Amino acid sequence: MWIMYQLSSMKFEKVGNRGLLFSFDDPYLTNVHVILGSDHVFVLDTFLGNDSMKIVQNIIAEEGHAGKPIVVFNSHADYDHYWGNGAFKDATIVGHEKCKVRIVAESEASLVKYADHQRGEVELIPPNRTFQETLKFENEGVKFFHTPGHTLDSASCYDMVDKVLFVGDNVESPFPYLNHANFEQYIHTLKSYLKVDWKYIVTGHDPIMEKPDLIKQNIDYLRKFRDWSLDIDSMSTQELHRHVDHNLNAIKEELMKSEQKKSLLKHLKELEKYIS
Ligand SMILES: [Zn+2]
Repeated sequence: MWIMYQLSSMKFEKVGNRGLLFSFDDPYLTNVHVILGSDHVFVLDTFLGNDSMKIVQNIIAEEGHAGKPIVVFNSHADYDHYWGNGAFKDATIVGHEKCKVRIVAESEASLVKYADHQRGEVELIPPNRTFQETLKFENEGVKFFHTPGHTLDSASCYDMVDKVLFVGDNVESPFPYLNHANFEQYIHTLKSYLKVDWKYIVTGHDPIMEKPDLIKQNIDYLRKFRDWSLDIDSMSTQELHRHVDHNLNAIKEELMKSEQKKSLLKHLKELEKYIS
């Protein structure tokens, strides 16, 4: 793995024998991973619009793979992972069936809500090849599989040749963003990553990883949240912000309607000193 070059808002590095990792940092760090297969080029997530994807296309061409059929993959239906789909004309766009449903339902509103984040033209195109559990490109050694966690439509990609596991936003520092109180399901997904024979983990928004530490840290957070045993006092400002302002907000209503209501209220009481 080495850095090929760096623009002010983009870093590009080679991973393994056939991987290209593009890390954009405007408006925030986001990864797009490319697998140069023998008969296809796989583009995993498409960031925020056509401008950034033009850079990706140029480098695919420079690497001698112009003209190969493109397979785009959307790890989930959050806007920062599919707004560049339109840059790849005639591509097969792979996503979980729930990802397609969400993009169809939510994409126009997301384009208004996050208008500031648009980078170049955005054509809202949902997946045209969906799957439920897994979708394999056997000859290419590439597998897509459903890994609900951060969102219910989250899916991952495993490159069996280079042993690169692309997990979208299921793994994130310091804690993942929760959207549902699906602790058991999410922990199951993260534990399944530990069983895969990977050399590199590529996430949506962190630097490439060669160690499982962050996965374990995320499991620990989810377990402790589920068990109401988080040590609030030892949390950093960033951790507290992610936990309180995003995660608790996102799943509070769901928890209030469940048997967790009492524990939630107690937890919110404990947090009062941190919430202005
Ligand atoms: Zn994201």
